Amino acid sequence: MIIDVHGHYTTAPKALEEWRNRQIAGIKDPSAKPRASELRISDDELRESIANNQLRQMKERGSDLTIFSPRASFMAHHIGDFEVSSTWAAICNELCFRVSKLFPDNFIGAAMLPQSPGVDPKTCIPELEKCIKEYGFVGINLNPDPSGGHWTSPPLSDRHWYPVYEKMVELDIPAMIHVSTSCNACFHTTGAHYLNADTTAFMQCLTSDLFKDFPTLRFLIPHGGGAVPYHWGRFRGLAQEMKKPLLKDHLLNNIFFDTCVYHQPGIDLLTKVIPVENVLFASEMIGAVRGIDPETGFHYDDTKRYIEAAKTLTAEDRYKIYEGNARRVFPRLDIALKARGN
Ligand SMILES: [Zn+2]
Repeated sequence: MIIDVHGHYTTAPKALEEWRNRQIAGIKDPSAKPRASELRISDDELRESIANNQLRQMKERGSDLTIFSPRASFMAHHIGDFEVSSTWAAICNELCFRVSKLFPDNFIGAAMLPQSPGVDPKTCIPELEKCIKEYGFVGINLNPDPSGGHWTSPPLSDRHWYPVYEKMVELDIPAMIHVSTSCNACFHTTGAHYLNADTTAFMQCLTSDLFKDFPTLRFLIPHGGGAVPYHWGRFRGLAQEMKKPLLKDHLLNNIFFDTCVYHQPGIDLLTKVIPVENVLFASEMIGAVRGIDPETGFHYDDTKRYIEAAKTLTAEDRYKIYEGNARRVFPRLDIALKARGN
C-alpha cells in the first residue's frame, strides 16, 4: 500500500474562496460578514473537484491513500481574530471530512487548527477533538507561526504549546508542523517561509528538552525537513556543543520527515542521511510546484519516481517509507486501515 501523508484540499470549489473573501471583508464591515450556512457546496461538486485532480493523479502515479488536510496557504491564521479562524477552520475541516466520506478508500483527514496570533493554543482543543473523535481524522497540522512570517509566538518547545501536546499524546496523534501564507514580503510563502519553518521547528526541538517532557509526542516535518537533512552535520555538531545527546536519541524517536523533495538528488540525500524509519512518503500533490520538470519529463511533485529510483533503498526500506512508518506515526490510521481489512 502506498500512503501519501501530505495532501491538501487545494482544488476546493470556488465557492469556498468566495465565502472566505466575504468573511475577510466582514472583519472591517460586520454587515458583510457571511454566515457559515451560506456556503453551499454539493457532494457532486466535491466529487468532481477530487476525481479530476488528486484522485486522477494518485491513480496515474500509483498511490492509494492520502492524508488530506485543508489547503495550507489558505489557513492564513494571521487574518482576523480567533472567531474568524475558528469559523474558517471548522468549514475547511468539514469539507475534508466530506471528501473522506465520499472517497473512504483514498482519503483520510488531518485537521487544520483555529490558531490565531496571541491567542492561547488551548482554544484549538475543541476543534481538534471534534476532528479526531467525530470525523475520524488521524492527525493535525500545527502552525508554529500563526502571525504569517513574523514569528511572534514562542518556540515550539515553550509551555505555551503544551495544552496541544497534552491532547495529542492523549489522542495518540502526530502533528505536521506546517506554516501558512507569509504576509512578510521578505519570505515567499512556499519557496522560503515553508522551508524556513521546517528548519526552524527542527532547531527549536534540538535546543530544548521538549521530548523529555513528552516522550511519545510526534512531529512530522514536511518538505523533506527544509534544510535539515542537507545540514545534518551542522545540527549534529551544534547538539554536541550544547551537550545534547546524539540526535538519533535526542530527536529521532519523535521527529519524522516527509518526501516532498522535488528532485532525485534531494531524495537520495534525504534517504541516505536520515534513517529510513524516520522518512514517510508524501508528494503534497496538488500543491506548490505543479509543473513538469524538463530534465525528466515528469511532474516535479511525482515523488514516488524518486523513491523508486533511489539506489540505496531496499524493498524493505520502500515498504517502511510507503506504508510501515505511516502506520506507526499515525496509529489511528493503522487502526482505521485494519478495521477495513488492510
Ligand atoms: Zn503542505
